[in-house]
Amino acid sequence: MLRIAEAAQLTDTGRQREANEDSYLARGPLFAVADGMGGAQAGEVASRMAVAAFERVDDPVAAPEELLRRTAEDANHEIFELAQGDSSRSGMGTTLTAALVHGDEISFGHVGDSRAYVFRDGRLRQITNDHSLVEELRRQGKLTRDQAADHPQRSVITRALGPEPTVDVDTLTFSARPGDVFLLCSDGLTTMLDDEDVAAVLDREEDLARAARRLVREANERGGRDNITVVLFRLEAAGEAAAGEGETLIGPAAAAAGLSAEAVAAGAAGGSRGGAAAEAPPRPPRRRPRRPAAPPPAPPRRWPRRLLAGGVGLLLAAAIASAAVLGARQVWFIGTDPGPGGADRLALFRGLPYELPFGIELYSVREVSAVPLLALPADRRGVAVDHELRSEDDARSLLEDLESAAVTAPPDRKRGGGERDRGEGGGAGGQGGGGAAGGSGGGAG
Ligand code: CA
Repeated sequence: MLRIAEAAQLTDTGRQREANEDSYLARGPLFAVADGMGGAQAGEVASRMAVAAFERVDDPVAAPEELLRRTAEDANHEIFELAQGDSSRSGMGTTLTAALVHGDEISFGHVGDSRAYVFRDGRLRQITNDHSLVEELRRQGKLTRDQAADHPQRSVITRALGPEPTVDVDTLTFSARPGDVFLLCSDGLTTMLDDEDVAAVLDREEDLARAARRLVREANERGGRDNITVVLFRLEAAGEAAAGEGETLIGPAAAAAGLSAEAVAAGAAGGSRGGAAAEAPPRPPRRRPRRPAAPPPAPPRRWPRRLLAGGVGLLLAAAIASAAVLGARQVWFIGTDPGPGGADRLALFRGLPYELPFGIELYSVREVSAVPLLALPADRRGVAVDHELRSEDDARSLLEDLESAAVTAPPDRKRGGGERDRGEGGGAGGQGGGGAAGGSGGGAG
């Protein structure tokens, strides 16, 4: 038998968002991270609803995968129903990555691009597969891992809880070993830090509370472009329990240990909490720090980008070389831009498909189509996001070609809401995503 020896959790708005749309649950044996999408606070509502569905689970050890799936489906239904009754919440949704520890195993339920990892023997392994457009293209062999990691549209997800009446929940069960550390996180961590960076932090910081703080700090230091949520827990053999702890196995120990976000943030949660857990009265876990009541709208943002590094540098060098041949102002490409409702629509861009640090864009939006990306047949979507550089004529004719290939084009209906750019275009403020035309051209480059 394994027990939860230690747990820590932390969420942070990041450096560029005004609101935190992530939610989490850390109440052993159940852990979850949810990353909401949708403007006007809808994303926040959706992620909290997802987590709340898991908080209500009272007998978590029976048929774990089935339980995770059913709970996620229930949350999907609730979020969908709420959105149906309120147009301001239309299309709202959330990712969900949940873990349930039972015996020597951990079961996961997963939708979207939040992730679960295991850190074992100094190595970090991703357990979940992202439900994202770039990950699908990668699996089809159309993008390399590096290209996927740095792709401008990597935040477009293909599955979420809420936008559709039903959802397909991935579940899997993992054999755990004593010493394993599990990490659940939102993409605000993994778009800022590579797996190697995360592994280095987990390797260096033995205390999970310190590791959580360090992960959030490093993600912020690299730009903090999105909300960052980290849930960590470590398993040990039940026999390793601290003296005096009795037979407390997996259970509410971690939550009872007082490892709330505030405690972590305040630096009060150091050391092993196992001993304290046996004595402390259970108390409800804190889901998230308080936020300002009325955050101002977030600025419009189209493409979340990691700071320029490594492979991107090469890509950029190649792009600049192409641009030098074509003349920078004559380089065009096709991509997507969030429409007023947040649905990604085909768009025509001039410039290079990159952002530099400090938000300097090397492109500007010239035209936003009424046709959403999801209206294209699946096999044509790749060409709409590959950002191949073209002449203006070529780019315009490709756009027309794609528009005429659209299978359905009701841009303001709720079709395929799962495949939205999760608020990267507007954050919780939401209003920012619309006025794309005439976006700030990048001065640099
Ligand atoms: Ca996010």
